[in-house]
Amino acid sequence: MGDTASGQAYLDCIRRRREEILARVDAALARSGRAVDAARVMAVSKTVGVDEVVAAIEAGYRFFGENRPQELIRKLEGLAAREGLAPVRFDMIGNLQKNKINAVLGRVDLIHSVSSLHLAQAISDRAERHLAEGALAAPQDVLLEVNISGEQSKSGFEPDELRRSIEELQGLRGIRIRGLMTMAPRGDNVMAHRTFAGLRDLRDELSARYPGLTLEELSCGMSEDFEAALEEGSTLVRLGRVVFDPAFELE
Ligand SMILES: *Cc1c(COP(=O)(O)O)cnc(C)c1O
Repeated sequence: MGDTASGQAYLDCIRRRREEILARVDAALARSGRAVDAARVMAVSKTVGVDEVVAAIEAGYRFFGENRPQELIRKLEGLAAREGLAPVRFDMIGNLQKNKINAVLGRVDLIHSVSSLHLAQAISDRAERHLAEGALAAPQDVLLEVNISGEQSKSGFEPDELRRSIEELQGLRGIRIRGLMTMAPRGDNVMAHRTFAGLRDLRDELSARYPGLTLEELSCGMSEDFEAALEEGSTLVRLGRVVFDPAFELE
């Protein structure tokens, strides 16, 4: 997008798009009897540059997601070099390799993509070390990614695997589990609803069984299925193309 990204036309475009997205979010929440502030919109900036993120901030977004640590750091450094920008939040939403954990700790509010017990333990170990050294103020907040749809290509805990591991996960002192995350199969509205409802049911089941567990966040819903996700209880939709790509067609 280069030159046009800093241009007024792009800014106008993503501003109008934001209005449209927020209207649809409100409508989906109202349809399902949920409060107007029951969900937040994250702008997934993984495919755009710092200029587009700056335009998004000017358009009103305050909450971003990245899926690669290197790109996260590039965005944070790029934004730090700009003056007068509103403060924003970044989350990590992508697959996290163990050797990249230190680069992410303390830089993001929430890691959405904790997809195995092994990874949770590795994040917790490093976070505990950072806490002891005073490099981290609080345990790292995380979401547990669950493969609700059962697709081979998807990462995340199998639901039964999560049921078996939850007590051990709860005992990890370097992390705080704030909720669950999932992705639905593409291009199938019925399956999308079923997947998001499955995530909500699993949250309800685990919350009932473990009163000490606070699973307040359900991170689900992307450009093509965020309205379905909101109707099924999503508290956090992760929107990339619909936010940043003027050519993306909202249905
Ligand atoms: C890219 C990505 C998104 C956003 O996808 P869009 O379809 O562009 O909205 C959301 N969540 C994750 C984990 C992603 O990698």
